[in-house]
Amino acid sequence: MTDTDERKAVMGRRSFMWATALMAAAPIVSEATMARAARASRLGDVPPDAVLINANENPLGPSKAACDAIAEIAPMGGRYDRFDENDKFVEKYAELHGLKPENIAVYAGSSEPLHYTVLAFTSPAHGLVIADPSYESPMAAAAVAGAPIRKVALNGDFAHDIKAMVTADPAAGLIYICNPNNPTGTITPREDILWALANKPAGSILMVDEAYIHLSDEQSVVDQVAAGKDLIVLRTFSKVYGMAGIRCGMAIGRPDLLAKLQPYLQNSMPITALVAAHASIDDVDLVPKRKGIIGGNRLETISWLRSSGYKPIGVSHSNCFMIDTGRDAHSVIAGLREQKVYIGRVWPVWPKAVRVSVGTADDMAKFRVAFKSVMDKPALAFAKPLARPELRGMGGTTFLS
Ligand code: PLP
Repeated sequence: MTDTDERKAVMGRRSFMWATALMAAAPIVSEATMARAARASRLGDVPPDAVLINANENPLGPSKAACDAIAEIAPMGGRYDRFDENDKFVEKYAELHGLKPENIAVYAGSSEPLHYTVLAFTSPAHGLVIADPSYESPMAAAAVAGAPIRKVALNGDFAHDIKAMVTADPAAGLIYICNPNNPTGTITPREDILWALANKPAGSILMVDEAYIHLSDEQSVVDQVAAGKDLIVLRTFSKVYGMAGIRCGMAIGRPDLLAKLQPYLQNSMPITALVAAHASIDDVDLVPKRKGIIGGNRLETISWLRSSGYKPIGVSHSNCFMIDTGRDAHSVIAGLREQKVYIGRVWPVWPKAVRVSVGTADDMAKFRVAFKSVMDKPALAFAKPLARPELRGMGGTTFLS
């Protein structure tokens, strides 16, 4: 071994140890952990007949084909991946999206690759740029990496202000674009994302989170991966496919970018999740059908809100939307909770806005009744919540107010 080889080996070991130390210290903040933190902060259990429209879940659950596939493979659960379900799924997914299998890394949900991408591409010298409000999880990972975080307000259409984001940090390591955005459900036009790809700071990458893309009419940017651009696209089966508790998601990118996530480890996938995801993409009617159901339930409630004089924020193309309540959002959440309707959290930048996930038609009907009765009362009629859920990342950053 030459001196240089030895130095490289030592460096490799060091970066592996560094990555491992970061992982050990890194809580993955996700809708699931935030919903759990919110639950833990409340007194009393969630009643069995509660309306749960708080965590952008899909009440329709996994498709019948997905459930059948799980039941069929379950007896093989004593083996790891005897029939190469991982490779079969990746090949199919790649083929459907004009990608190569090496462009796809499968994880138990997209929270893991989201977290690892931030750890891999940000550092104290290379920050994270994120819209405000947007999904908080990348900020939790950036805090672990010790990376500066630059928050950029949404523009007048409640889309990402791409020009401001691209210029926010000349040394940025990663620019996060959530499309449609969580919590607003609003769209950032594809041409703006392409502009960001062409004009971002040298050395940075885009992380485009398409968790909710199937619920919109927007064209994905996975074709930009095939074109060899500097981006990682995140996809999940937790939303339109209704598999949040079954766990399957992926990072899609150039092999050299995906290789940077490897030091943070990638466990083998449960075969149940792989076959359920595979069956879901094989069912070509599933996405349009569910998009129709969820979109219909969303539109019905949004039209009711508008015609009743309430103020939904922007135009949602997703399974969540925000309402400007004009009063302390925590008091609205507490008032709804008294009526067994559980909605989402509050983003500090908009302390009077609440996020509502789209549930079944029945869930949304109950929400409308409860929301009206809360808003009909004077703003001060509700005491402050008994306890405010809080989730802190390293360095004491609060992500949930
Ligand atoms: N990205 C966004 C924007 C989300 O809202 C969520 C969850 O709600 C995730 C990623 C992670 O979801 P999962 O880990 O279930 O794939």
